[in-house]
Amino acid sequence: MKTTIVAVTSLFSILSLSAQTHSHSGTQPLSYPDIQGYVTLKTDLHMHSVFSDGSVWPTIRVEEALRENLDAISLTEHLEYQPHKEDIPHPDRNRAYHLAMEEAKEHDLLIIPGSEITRSAPVGHNNAVFIKDANELLHEDAKDAFSTAKKQNAFVFWNHPAWYAQSPAGTPILSDFQKERIKKGELHGIEVINTVDYSEESLALALENNLTIMGTSDIHGLIDWSYTQKGNHRPITLVFAKDKSIEGLKEALFAGRTVAVYNELLVGKAEYLKPLLQASIEIGKAEYIEKTQVLEVELKNISSSDLLFENAMGYTFYDSSPVFEIPAGESKTLKIKTLEKLKTLTIKLVALGAYTAPKVHPTIEWKVIME
Ligand SMILES: [Zn+2]
Ligand SMILES: [Zn+2]
Repeated sequence: MKTTIVAVTSLFSILSLSAQTHSHSGTQPLSYPDIQGYVTLKTDLHMHSVFSDGSVWPTIRVEEALRENLDAISLTEHLEYQPHKEDIPHPDRNRAYHLAMEEAKEHDLLIIPGSEITRSAPVGHNNAVFIKDANELLHEDAKDAFSTAKKQNAFVFWNHPAWYAQSPAGTPILSDFQKERIKKGELHGIEVINTVDYSEESLALALENNLTIMGTSDIHGLIDWSYTQKGNHRPITLVFAKDKSIEGLKEALFAGRTVAVYNELLVGKAEYLKPLLQASIEIGKAEYIEKTQVLEVELKNISSSDLLFENAMGYTFYDSSPVFEIPAGESKTLKIKTLEKLKTLTIKLVALGAYTAPKVHPTIEWKVIME
């Protein structure tokens, strides 16, 4: 319900295309490194199909996720907003999940059962994922929907709290409703990135209330049309899990081990964002230019985000601006003027596209040993 609905005219050609290649691998597979002790799961836990106000069949969501190399998705249909109900009656609100499960069973993609509890402000929209039965979440009173979700051990997050249709200033308002849900252990996360919107105020709420930081596509039309063809990746949540499983993902979400990502924007708690950025840059060859004290070091960005850095070392660069970008998958050779020949060096850079709190960038270090 947050985005405009796009008419789908080429569904047929997409289906016949994917029938030819069963791997569903795409041109823009996403890749982010693991961090110490955890596997990095690429997830999108907010999306819609024709079983609420989306424009595609649930199987398309699965194929899109496979094309982008995601690890887990959830079809979170609006429980209370069902504009296609006359054309597609479905008394069982778990139907989209079951259709997605059927499509995903031959692939290494986790399908998480979920629903969007949908109200006007101050309740707003909230996703309950890892639910057991969506039908039971249908209640007149939103409080009952939340308490039922808790009974089902669901992980619940507040969707697009800064959405200007519900909060005209474009900033989130933490009402007594949310305060009570947090206190009762019925609200566990918050979207800081939803579609193309990033809210620093939502990030502040996440940190103040110890809510898990989320980023989602909230896709209603096609990922290709809404994101890829415009040169963007869909927003995702990177989740640092003990293993790739439904239980592993759930444990990590409740523990708050996430980073929300949209293109070059990365938002997360320092304890997870810093090791992610650290692992995203591989240090290649490091040697002095002959007869000089100018050290050449190759930095390779192995993540799918373009990374923007600023020099935070005492040393200056020979031929680069102190602010520079390393595009996704590419390398940059820094020429560092160390003034004397060193045996080791700690490269220190501020990650300008990354936030651990509003207006706060992490500083990342890499130890380099010269050849
Ligand atoms: Zn919504
Ligand atoms: Zn939604």
